[in-house]
Amino acid sequence: MNDLAPLPNRGCQDTPVLKERGQREVFCGLTGIIWLHRKMQDAFFLVVGSRTCAHLLQSAAGVMIFAEPRFGTAILEEKDLAGMADANEELDREVDRLLSRRPDIRQLFLVGSCPSEVIKLDLERAAQRLTGIHGPRVRVLNYSGSGIETTFTQGEDACLSAMVPSLPDTDAQNLVLVGSLPDVVEDQAISLLERLGISDVQVLPGRDAAHDPAVGPNTRYALLQPFLGDTAQALERRGATRIDAPFPFGDEGTTAWLAAIAALYGVSRETFEAVTAGPRARARKAIAVQAEKLRGKSIFFFPDSQLEVPLARFLTRECGMEAVEIGTPFLHKGLAAADLALIPEGPTISEGQDVDLQLDRCIAARPDITVCGLGLANPLEARGLTTKWAIELVFTPVHFYEQAGDLAGLFSRPLDRKRVLRLHPNASAQEAPA
Ligand code: SF4
Repeated sequence: MNDLAPLPNRGCQDTPVLKERGQREVFCGLTGIIWLHRKMQDAFFLVVGSRTCAHLLQSAAGVMIFAEPRFGTAILEEKDLAGMADANEELDREVDRLLSRRPDIRQLFLVGSCPSEVIKLDLERAAQRLTGIHGPRVRVLNYSGSGIETTFTQGEDACLSAMVPSLPDTDAQNLVLVGSLPDVVEDQAISLLERLGISDVQVLPGRDAAHDPAVGPNTRYALLQPFLGDTAQALERRGATRIDAPFPFGDEGTTAWLAAIAALYGVSRETFEAVTAGPRARARKAIAVQAEKLRGKSIFFFPDSQLEVPLARFLTRECGMEAVEIGTPFLHKGLAAADLALIPEGPTISEGQDVDLQLDRCIAARPDITVCGLGLANPLEARGLTTKWAIELVFTPVHFYEQAGDLAGLFSRPLDRKRVLRLHPNASAQEAPA
């Protein structure tokens, strides 16, 4: 590979969406704290929740924490849940204790959970009250990561959209990249833009509160992640305008994403070619190695991370795979339009989940790879299907040119593993590629 297939007419843009609203199998939005706390160096995420919430965070973050963590759980005990104690007073006390012990904290997020929602603890008012006490040194915001309201990546959307109203105003023309990426990947993106001659690039979220972007009517923003629909709306309420583009996965997605920004800034074709030719060639070469193993293979996406549509575009167009079903928890048709337009017609596009019905469709289709959450992977493997954990796609650096080969490799490795286990049935899972 990588001669790209010709552009389809409207691709899957007009494909009717199968909407399902049954039982779903996906993490709650608290999970986003794992990558957000690493990104925002002066933030603390205080989950107001139960021991279950604390366990979820602790196990998702890994058991070893060597530095003082920047997230924690204010546990709602039975007397709180029964209304026998004033949860607001206890919360104020906990926050006092935390902020006096940790002067490095400049942003405090009160994160709602299922239990705090059930007892109707008003965290918005709590955040306003605590801002009155601890501001302006500490900015206190709130959002919900509850499993009743949010899935997996929606936690980041809820967090960033909560930040938007507090961003400084500007009338200046500026470019804001929206979404939390590992620093090294973010630096690559900014470096490419600077070499195109586009400076004054800011990122939401900033690495600390002092580096959060300013927003106003002359702000243009480009999303880095497809799951930021509420954040996009919040930015537009502040007058910002979205730059429409496919998401920057793979060679094609990254090039189209950069090209959309370059067009807005009047970058010449020659400059664009000069800046992108080298990294594009590296990306194509790295993808081609993996595409050898992926070409002609079928893939089925269960709804999980909301990355499913752009990843299906990457895998079908750049790796030669065939998508059977592209399931996503929510389909922001506006944000996904550019990617949908590039996916050849054919796959079922589904939104939401009725897990039993979807399992039936998957088992009947017998795809070569199934992308799903941890809870579904083992039962599907037991039925002889090859699976890929969706959560890895969020925790692994996969955006932009330099990560394009690794992204394709995430999908070829389960096939390698299956092949090794077939050839050596006694090999342990540890000996086979993950
Ligand atoms: S927020 Fe809800 S779904 Fe998430 S860990 Fe807590 S109780 Fe479980």
